[in-house]
Amino acid sequence: MADALARPLRDLRISVTDRCQFRCTYCMPREVFGRDFVFLPREDLLTFEELTRLARVFAGLGVRKLRLTGGEPLLRRDLERLIAKLAAIGGIQDIALTTNGALLARKARTLADAGLRRVTVSLDSLDDAVFMALNDAGFPVARVLDGIAAAADAGLAPVKVNMVVKRGCNDPSILPMVAHFRGSGHVLRFIEYMDVGNTNGWRLDDVVPAAEIIALIGGQWPLEPLPARYPGEVATRYRFQDGAGEIGIVASVTQPFCRSCARARLSAEGKLYTCLFAGSGHDLRATLRGGVSDQALREQIAAIWTMRADRYSELRTRATGRTQKVEMSHVGG
Ligand code: SAM
Repeated sequence: MADALARPLRDLRISVTDRCQFRCTYCMPREVFGRDFVFLPREDLLTFEELTRLARVFAGLGVRKLRLTGGEPLLRRDLERLIAKLAAIGGIQDIALTTNGALLARKARTLADAGLRRVTVSLDSLDDAVFMALNDAGFPVARVLDGIAAAADAGLAPVKVNMVVKRGCNDPSILPMVAHFRGSGHVLRFIEYMDVGNTNGWRLDDVVPAAEIIALIGGQWPLEPLPARYPGEVATRYRFQDGAGEIGIVASVTQPFCRSCARARLSAEGKLYTCLFAGSGHDLRATLRGGVSDQALREQIAAIWTMRADRYSELRTRATGRTQKVEMSHVGG
């Protein structure tokens, strides 16, 4: 099954909750997600049985990889029960989890035992003052590091560590993060700060382009590019020439990868989005709860995918011709 731009459907990101304990300023800022914000009531969330049924239908349409995310996925009670159900679905080759790490030290072993294969932990600085200003929840770096260590001990290795870089905010943390994670066996990945709708006050000037990040790191520890492991791999990879492992960079702003995007996203209340940046989704929960057959579900999802023509990031980059100029000036410098 291919979409209107000949892209297959391979990956499904499942948001298992809309809640998070952090209020990262670039993601769920307190001004928007404050005390009065109304999160979804429990009955609006897809149940584990509904998620499993959907995942099975998606697997039948070609999905091979599931990523559990949120909100903060480890806030969903008994998540390991869902993981065990998903791991039993034929065709699913990989189940991964993206987490802020706050509850990971406690849960890593149970998650791995249930069938989780890999974990990505978000960590934006090793400096407590910077990290706490970003997570806006007073959460210290040390507990995230404990979570990363516990995940590696539980066999969820190599642990990927995602650092969103926002200019003037945590860019001075880039080199200390590299120094810390080089040679650790964990893979540090830098994420260009993205526009996630109207909630985070995104400005292009706040994006540190991938080329600038690579030039900065390569100036201290020489790097060489690595080939993609599979078509459509999101991160561009580099290895340290001295053998201290690799880093990745997700350049969705300056080098969009819409052309090879094989990902769909399912929100906690069961809406299917065909692009990370899509403003509206397709309500699968209504279909699920309407008592239809798997075949009818399959047809609805196939119809949505085959119509898909999203390429938000590509069009945005083209529209803001400045992006390329910013990038090139740093490549030269
Ligand atoms: N709570 C989990 C976590 O912190 O990893 C999972 C959800 S979070 C939305 C998933 C990832 O998206 C995190 O690595 C986070 O840093 C990243 N993210 C959120 N907002 C972003 C933005 N504006 N630009 C780039 N990455 C962002």
